[in-house]
Amino acid sequence: MLNLLKHPLLTHKLTLLRRKETTTKDFRETLDEIAGLMAYEITRDLPVKKITIETPLGKCNTEELAMDVILIPVLRAGLGMVDGISNLIPTARVGHIGMYRDHVTLESMTYYSKLPDNLSDAVVMVLDPMLATGGSSTSAIQILKDHGAKSIKLVYVVGAPEGVERIMKDHPDVQIYLAGLDDKLNEHGYIVPGLGDAGDRIFGTK
Ligand code: URA
Repeated sequence: MLNLLKHPLLTHKLTLLRRKETTTKDFRETLDEIAGLMAYEITRDLPVKKITIETPLGKCNTEELAMDVILIPVLRAGLGMVDGISNLIPTARVGHIGMYRDHVTLESMTYYSKLPDNLSDAVVMVLDPMLATGGSSTSAIQILKDHGAKSIKLVYVVGAPEGVERIMKDHPDVQIYLAGLDDKLNEHGYIVPGLGDAGDRIFGTK
């Protein structure tokens, strides 16, 4: 299911990311801020359990998170969203999936995968700033399901309709979160108007 998050702060910060004159430093900081704001919304439905604790003044019946959160940045651009979310959820464990697209077959190839244990008991948040064709996301989701993940949330900043359609077809059980849904993909697979190559803009490689 697609969840398009709407908030004036998100919209404002996304505009900053999109501007071509935004520097690497500002891009990096703003992406982390957006990831944190998105995570705040996305974690609204996390289960909690009742506990009793002691405050300095006595007993308090309260609640705490009942499920682990695991973050899975898709290399490399997903790395730009980890700090913003782990600042909010410091107990979150982090796995990594690395993918590239084979130039001949155009298939997504996994070159790296290091996942925490017990994916089945956790809320697994896949992080990637851009949902373009959905090819690498759909492969990443399959890897996570093969390792037992049951509750998967896909966290992107900007998406194209083509990618949304692909994920909804391949994995109708996962939740898709976007801060912006753009017009289309161009002939090179870039989202238009988008924000350019997210990895290059985070790491200053172009
Ligand atoms: N990846 C990016 O970094 N940008 C796009 O527009 C599409 C995929």
